Amino acid sequence: MELIPIFGIGIFGLAVGSFTNAAVYRLKICEIKSIFFGRSFCPRCKKTLRARDLIPLASFLLLRGRCRFCRKKISPHYFWVELATAVAFGGVAVFTGFADLALLSWNLFFTAIFIFLASFDFLFGEIPDEVSLPASLLAFLGSFLAFTIAPCESLIGLLAGGGFFAAIVLISNGKWMGGGDIRFGLLLGALLGWQGFAIAVFAASFLGSTVGVIQILQKKKKLKSALPFAPFLAAGGVAAILFAEEIWEWYLSFF
Ligand SMILES: [Zn+2]
Repeated sequence: MELIPIFGIGIFGLAVGSFTNAAVYRLKICEIKSIFFGRSFCPRCKKTLRARDLIPLASFLLLRGRCRFCRKKISPHYFWVELATAVAFGGVAVFTGFADLALLSWNLFFTAIFIFLASFDFLFGEIPDEVSLPASLLAFLGSFLAFTIAPCESLIGLLAGGGFFAAIVLISNGKWMGGGDIRFGLLLGALLGWQGFAIAVFAASFLGSTVGVIQILQKKKKLKSALPFAPFLAAGGVAAILFAEEIWEWYLSFF
């Protein structure tokens, strides 16, 4: 196996995770144009961070999770997003391989989008349309280049994914899910088709209920308190990008 390129993509994942952290924060606080421009600063003391404070993982550990200037605690969330992106990128590289670089880039790009949406939902309890809608459109347009599925499959997936979550929002009167989840459903469906969408939702529900039960057992959460669902959808989405065909064949082998 090509260990060095996989390791390289893991490192690239660290940088993308770091960018994701900054982008999530800036999209919430500032205008969209500042996502790509402007320097990172501490949310409390507003001092511009130095280059050495922006090294993924290492800076957080060296500063022991505090701002260099005002010692305000930095949420470990940022650390975990960087680590998760690196691990996810490494995994995508391993299972996609390097034979088709366009496909690899495509899978990495949407993995990063999923992590962005998951992180945003985790921090702020919402899924930003500014990212989910253009990404859905891009997933649909990409199907014309035959990356993974055909355009009609993408369109059916988009309708099925959005429709499925819209139905849940309607049935539960918005208690179990929100409008942001519908847009995440559009994206998953457009990217993966309806079979891939079903697998992503199955994996997400399985993960979500496992984590929910663990938290209830640890008495961290009450039975009724809702977990943000996007992180689980993101994990399910990455699983479906990589293993949809295998899981689907395995499932069909029962009939
Ligand atoms: Zn500070």
